[in-house]
Amino acid sequence: MAGVIGTGSMGRGIAQVLAEAGVVVRLADADPGAAEAARGFIADMLARKIAKGQCDEAHRVATLDRLVIVPAEPEAFAGVDLVVEAIVEALDVKRRLFSGLEPAVGPDCILASNTSSLSVTAIAAGCAVPERVAGFHFFNPVPVMKIVEVVAGARTAPWVTAALTALAGRTGHRAANVADSPGFLVNHAGRGFGVEALRILQDGVARPVDIDRIMRDAAGFRMGPFELFDLVGLDVSQPVMESIYNQFFQEPRFRPSPIGRNRMESGLLGRKTGAGFYVYE
Ligand code: NAD
Repeated sequence: MAGVIGTGSMGRGIAQVLAEAGVVVRLADADPGAAEAARGFIADMLARKIAKGQCDEAHRVATLDRLVIVPAEPEAFAGVDLVVEAIVEALDVKRRLFSGLEPAVGPDCILASNTSSLSVTAIAAGCAVPERVAGFHFFNPVPVMKIVEVVAGARTAPWVTAALTALAGRTGHRAANVADSPGFLVNHAGRGFGVEALRILQDGVARPVDIDRIMRDAAGFRMGPFELFDLVGLDVSQPVMESIYNQFFQEPRFRPSPIGRNRMESGLLGRKTGAGFYVYE
């Protein structure tokens, strides 16, 4: 049995893939009504899968039955084997959440964080048993992106990463085992790619549409960097770029372009605001 805390874009996806794999999931969110909304969203996603012939009604009903909404309180997670948090990206809040859960869950309960830019070691340092803490970093949208980074902090026990790797296999996600390091693997490489694209734009070398086309058609990327910025949202990408730069002690390779912060502050976030590097009707 698992718990998912934080039922926004990521938590709902994680809850869906776990429940579809047969795991009973207790769902909680600090925002009243958010867990119910997430369960409703998952119900719609499963209905779409039925329409596409990817599953049947029995699978939908059984999956929804496994999603149990509970209050966002530590006691609600007593007896679970794993808690995955997908709450706000703030170190002190994640630390408080895990240290608050520790007295309520059993000694073998894994505490996993979906953080994309914070140090797993630093999150674990707030716990009495840091060995049980690991990163379990999924990508958006979780049911579609079949990869997950299993991140070992400095004190994470090998049985913890082994259990998460096995669980990823159950959900059909390929686990990449990585050590705790700024941006882990995907954001270390990927944000470098985004930072460089912004620098090319800043230098006036090419327009976003041309950079994206080249990266798609010539370099073989599924999306260009600006299409990806718009999909993820600059409110998410910009802080991650800045965080990686700072965690690498201002390594010039990772220095973000001022263009990103400017656009974020002006509200040109991407698809979610109707305009980013592209305009969405
Ligand atoms: P989101 O804003 O969509 O959802 C976060 C949810 O957590 C909200 O529903 C909020 O009410 C809830 N929440 C906040 N603080 C809480 C608390 N203390 N207790 C319980 N619930 C709380 O955010 P998201 O995009 O799903 O991101 C969640 C985490 O996943 C972050 O750590 C983020 O860095 C990481 N992440 C995001 C993406 C992405 O593309 N969005 C990808 C990978 C990882």
